[in-house]
Amino acid sequence: MDNMELPKLLIVDDRRENIIALEKVLRALPVKIISATSGNDALGLVLEHDFALILLDVQMPDMDGFETAELIRCNDDTSHIPIIFVTAISKEEKYVFKGYETGAVDYLFKPIDSDILKGKVVVFLELYRQKARLQKVNVELKRANRKILDQQRAVIEEERLKVLLQMAGATAHELNQPLMALLGSIELMELNGTIPEQVESHIVRIKEAGERIASTVRKIQTIRTCEVKPYGDNAQIIDLEQSLKIMSVDTSKEDFDRLKSYLADSVEITLEQFASIKTAMGRLVNNRYDLIFLDYLLEDGTAFDFFSDLEKHGLEIPVVVITGQGDEILASQMIQIGAYDYLPKNRLAAEVLKKTIAQTQEKAHLKMEIAEAQARMTEMSTKDELTQLANRRYFNEVLEVQFQRAVRHGEDLILGIIDLDHFKRINDRYGHPAGDQVLIQLGKTLKAALRQNDLACRYGGEEFAFILPGTDIDKAQIVCNRLHTAIGAMEICYEDQEICVTASIGMAVAAGTDSSQTLLTQADTALYSAKKSGRNRVEVYAG
Ligand code: GH3
Ligand code: MG
Ligand code: MG
Repeated sequence: MDNMELPKLLIVDDRRENIIALEKVLRALPVKIISATSGNDALGLVLEHDFALILLDVQMPDMDGFETAELIRCNDDTSHIPIIFVTAISKEEKYVFKGYETGAVDYLFKPIDSDILKGKVVVFLELYRQKARLQKVNVELKRANRKILDQQRAVIEEERLKVLLQMAGATAHELNQPLMALLGSIELMELNGTIPEQVESHIVRIKEAGERIASTVRKIQTIRTCEVKPYGDNAQIIDLEQSLKIMSVDTSKEDFDRLKSYLADSVEITLEQFASIKTAMGRLVNNRYDLIFLDYLLEDGTAFDFFSDLEKHGLEIPVVVITGQGDEILASQMIQIGAYDYLPKNRLAAEVLKKTIAQTQEKAHLKMEIAEAQARMTEMSTKDELTQLANRRYFNEVLEVQFQRAVRHGEDLILGIIDLDHFKRINDRYGHPAGDQVLIQLGKTLKAALRQNDLACRYGGEEFAFILPGTDIDKAQIVCNRLHTAIGAMEICYEDQEICVTASIGMAVAAGTDSSQTLLTQADTALYSAKKSGRNRVEVYAG
């Protein structure tokens, strides 16, 4: 990896020899080390670089580690950087507490055990990488969302226009009749306005017509107010009274009680304990949980077994691993296989716990949004992932437009459907990935055989379709025969094996067809008859 891309670590220590010693231990890790010999220098550096972690000496002249940390925490640009205090002071509670006030993430006590140091740094680097990845995805997500919103806006605008046009038509229609009645009555009044009993009936009719016009106008007015919120009915609001269900998978009653006491004042949180993987899984499969606290050693296995069971059941619930002292290496492995975070047992406290819960929920939410956006993107995409040809959705849209145009201008249009022969056997014999290679190659062959104005797509599975606009049946025959031969001549090499395929093609002509749907059915019928009469051939729909 290029040095530029490596995450950065800042070592702050007033003694050079300490810095050198730490650097020596961390040399093998994928991290770029930067050092500072005073709190002041460190404050300058944190503004200049994006650090994954700071190793901060506590005892320094001028500004000590705690003061430095305090200042780093005060700045919004740097407050997120995790800090490990390095101290020679014994593990007295008051220092640990002081560290928490300034937002410490961890402690290292001198003399430093190099394995523990490495373990801790590895955990934080992994968390940093995960965060960076999430941030990147978040940017993509925002971009994707913007795109979706733009497209939705365009669709809404189109729909609105349609509604307005329909409304204008309906309004004209509704107003027409009472207006005619009104004008007719006025005309009659002009003709024989002097006869009093007739005047009366004319006035009644004029009044009626006027009321009908007024009622239509009222209707239009009510519709106009709806216009402002055309999607009011579909709007969803977020429930703000959300509860949080947490499962703790551990075997110690004291640990669980402690956990419970830390969260006692959070009424929205419910906490349940399970001591074995089996019972926990049993619950998880049928019940919603928002978060799992996971201990390492469980009644019927370890946290690793738990993770593999989660995966087996397809469960995606955020897990925070609770580790014992010195278990950083383990924590790092857990994070790599999917844990959201880790919490050392000896440092469980109400504040830390709540902060971790909040962060984890945020991460989980983000992950869910990403998955949803990706699903929406797939839905909105116009390309087939495997072959890079157009997908069925896009093809059908283009077919409809081309069909209408051909009908309007009396132009030729040909639709063809290709289906590989006995493709199942190819998969069975060479494997699915080999089958995929065949499909990719077929996509390329198809593209090469067609002109710029033609359109090819993967219609589904091993079925492809193409449109030839402005092509008569004779020319289309030539194109299809050439395509058919090109497919038969394809040589797909997959892991030293050569695979050959044949295809059946069904073709239909748009002229005289009532809809693009009928055209598709006709091409399909032709394909069916090609299959039935022995495969590996081109058939034209004969009517
Ligand atoms: P026929 O000549 O009657 O068309 O026989 P066939 O075996 O080609 O037809 P069938 O419809 O029975 O099987 C189609 C096969 O295509 C089954 C499916 O496994 C395979 N298939 C569908 N999509 C893909 C894909 O994306 N990749 C691979 N490798 N195979 C696929
Ligand atoms: Mg098929
Ligand atoms: Mg087939």
